[in-house]
Amino acid sequence: MAAPKVAVVGAGVIGLSTALCITETCPSCSVTILSDQFSPNTTSDVAAGMLIPHTYPGTPIHVQKQWFKETFAYLFAISNSAEASEAGIHLVSGWQVFKNAPKEELPFWSDVVLGFRLMSEAELRKFPQHRFGQAFMTLKCDCPPYLLWLEKRLKATGAQMYTRKVADLWELHSKYNVVVNCAGIGAQQLVGDKELFPVRGQVLKVHAPWVKNFIRDGDGLTYIYPGIHRVTLGGTREKESWSLFPNPGTTKDIFDRCCSLEPSLRGAQDIKVKVGLRPSRRCVRLQREVLSQGGLKLPVVHNYGHGAGGFSMHRGTAKEAARLVGECIAALQGSLSRAKL
Ligand code: FAD
Repeated sequence: MAAPKVAVVGAGVIGLSTALCITETCPSCSVTILSDQFSPNTTSDVAAGMLIPHTYPGTPIHVQKQWFKETFAYLFAISNSAEASEAGIHLVSGWQVFKNAPKEELPFWSDVVLGFRLMSEAELRKFPQHRFGQAFMTLKCDCPPYLLWLEKRLKATGAQMYTRKVADLWELHSKYNVVVNCAGIGAQQLVGDKELFPVRGQVLKVHAPWVKNFIRDGDGLTYIYPGIHRVTLGGTREKESWSLFPNPGTTKDIFDRCCSLEPSLRGAQDIKVKVGLRPSRRCVRLQREVLSQGGLKLPVVHNYGHGAGGFSMHRGTAKEAARLVGECIAALQGSLSRAKL
């Protein structure tokens, strides 16, 4: 079989990292990314990009932990290289604080992040409304630079990128041997997935360079995540809301909530408001499927539905998707050689 042709639909963090893993595991493949939007216009550009996992109720915890470990190790190596600044990856220390002690004292990812420990009484004095807390160091991606860095790496491997909306995966069957679906919330329309729904998130990106530590309320709603250039203040989780317009009342509410955790933010400047739709599902859809029409077949690998945790899990799920692409190619090569006998 000549160089297998693989099309990846989607250019958010999942599509780009999956395409990159495919070029690494199958260097003979010709990889093309087709997407109706690229950075800076994807949900991935809006994200805070913190590596603090969200839990998928439909995926076994050991699988989620493996995905997180692989992602953490990959980004930790970048943070420790000369690429760190261009890729927008850095280590950040901080606190997750709770008004009441959480049910599980140790989250499943506590031994993957660095230096996880319970907060001392002295540290908790900074948060008079909270009674319990965890301190640790994790990684943060500045999302637009990281997406551009992934695009640059892909172009260097010879991957092609085209702006194109795909209405039906089957329209790709005549040109590609395998199609990978990384369409995020777009998969709801693209493959009619009724289990996929948006969880709207509004965040503020502000200039507050004195804020060096992250602070996250354990309810997951209020957070302050310092990046290399700007601090992300969040947030909201609005299930089934498709609106991409910022809500001014929500902006004020987010700002007030964050200031009550970190009063110095009252001096923050140049406030920009962003909205994104988290592609949410009970579990990430990471599986093979074979589409067929009139005796013709098209192998597809799905990798979407990362909800609130796409950055935390992207490298782990991309590796698994690339492995599934390898299985599809092996199956195609097997059927070609059987046909020749
Ligand atoms: P997207 O980034 O939406 O990419 C989908 C791509 O598919 C786009 O390029 C789109 O144009 C393309 N596409 C869709 N349909 C089609 C079609 N029919 N044809 C062609 N192309 C198509 N996660 C974390 O881990 N940590 C965080 O701190 C974090 N913070 C967040 C904060 C907010 C406010 C939000 C909204 C999300 C946050 N997330 C976070 C979640 C994270 O952003 C998502 O899980 C992740 O971006 C999903 O990536 P994706 O590539 O699947 O989707």
